Amino acid sequence: MRAGAIDDSEDLVSALLSDFSPVAIHDLADRPLPPGGLWDPTYPPIPDPPPSPLHWNVCFNDAGERDRAADAIHEQLPHLAIERVDLPDEDWAARSQQSLTAVRAGAFIIAPPWDIPADPGDATVIVIEPSMGFGTGHHATTRMCLRLLSDIDVTDATVLDLGTGSGVLSMAAALRGARAVVGVDVDQDAIDSAETSARLNTLPDTITFAVIDFRHAPPAAADIVLANLTGGMLTSSAASIAALVRPHGQLVLSGFDHTEVDRVLAAFATFTERQRLSEDNWIALQLQK
Ligand code: SAH
Repeated sequence: MRAGAIDDSEDLVSALLSDFSPVAIHDLADRPLPPGGLWDPTYPPIPDPPPSPLHWNVCFNDAGERDRAADAIHEQLPHLAIERVDLPDEDWAARSQQSLTAVRAGAFIIAPPWDIPADPGDATVIVIEPSMGFGTGHHATTRMCLRLLSDIDVTDATVLDLGTGSGVLSMAAALRGARAVVGVDVDQDAIDSAETSARLNTLPDTITFAVIDFRHAPPAAADIVLANLTGGMLTSSAASIAALVRPHGQLVLSGFDHTEVDRVLAAFATFTERQRLSEDNWIALQLQK
């Protein structure tokens, strides 16, 4: 159900909705960006109550419940524009991400198609269609990999992105001038979403995505290897990952927390630690071979 009005009916709509069982309420109203920069929804403040105009997307588990809620709201607020929408179940994950907004990480801004910044300044904008592929910029590990990548000179380098998800890190490297970028993922849905997002960006012709488990079908070694996986996989597959980094190359690792970092470092003991970032208890490392 989509409800919209240009006044402050929020309180009444909230009260009416609480008699039913909405499973999610997304506030889609346009509002200016805060002066400090782009609004990252993983970091409050989200205004409460949200400022008008009211523009909400409210999801229910079944159409009957939705219709009863819509009728109750219409009765009290006849001027409110209400649209009843049926969503296929499989769209749920993507729909639930529609309230995502653009996020800054290092030299990059990750933006969903509905929130592309008009004036990104000196930032490199990467447009990502949120879907099943992990990597919308709303996870600390993705942002830290992008921050580390911002400090690495990728010009003319070959780059390998192990577990590319949405393709975000591959696109970042390609946009910053890498010579050749290969993004691999074991999950076909992730590669499909990476290819969809790649079409939303003006990318150089240097990027390739492939459905591969890097442990069983190792791609060619690269100057820079990005691996935002899990602590367990990084540790157990350290030998295969290390072999994919060319001599003196850089390795960017994330996907693990403070309790795992020593184990990850021990698994890559032949590398030298160059940089360490930490956010929300997650860690990212830049290592050099
Ligand atoms: N690089 C993105 C996504 C990280 S999520 C980002 O930084 O936001 C990790 C991804 O690794 C998932 O999409 C998962 O499917 C993939 N993955 C996990 N194990 C893998 C393996 N052995 N080979 C290839 N991809 C793998």
